[in-house]
Amino acid sequence: MKRYHSGLVAEYDQLLARRERELCALLRAREEQAVGAARDDISDFKDVATRESQVVVDEVQAEHAAHELEQVLAARRRLQELNYGMCQDCGAPIDLRRLSAMPAASHCVSCQYMREHQPYS
Ligand SMILES: [Zn+2]
Repeated sequence: MKRYHSGLVAEYDQLLARRERELCALLRAREEQAVGAARDDISDFKDVATRESQVVVDEVQAEHAAHELEQVLAARRRLQELNYGMCQDCGAPIDLRRLSAMPAASHCVSCQYMREHQPYS
């Protein structure tokens, strides 16, 4: 298993920064959409069709993005504090392949599995 090491700080900071920008853009789009929708709520039904063909960020998506953004920010903090790449539950190093795919991952595969399947523990 490949592990994260401090020599990769810059690389992972970049990955996280890019993800942060993407998520911020998505959330901004959602906000603008909400403002726009509130503004022409009643007036124009004819617009509905065109609006639906646009890229619409729905509420669920926005919620996920907000949640992920929190994780990304937390991961960047861990990166600065040099405890990035460790599972927040068991302290084991997280597989580097997992980190590359999900740079904001805060748990190893088995702890993540436990969390997802035991929501109340
Ligand atoms: Zn773990």
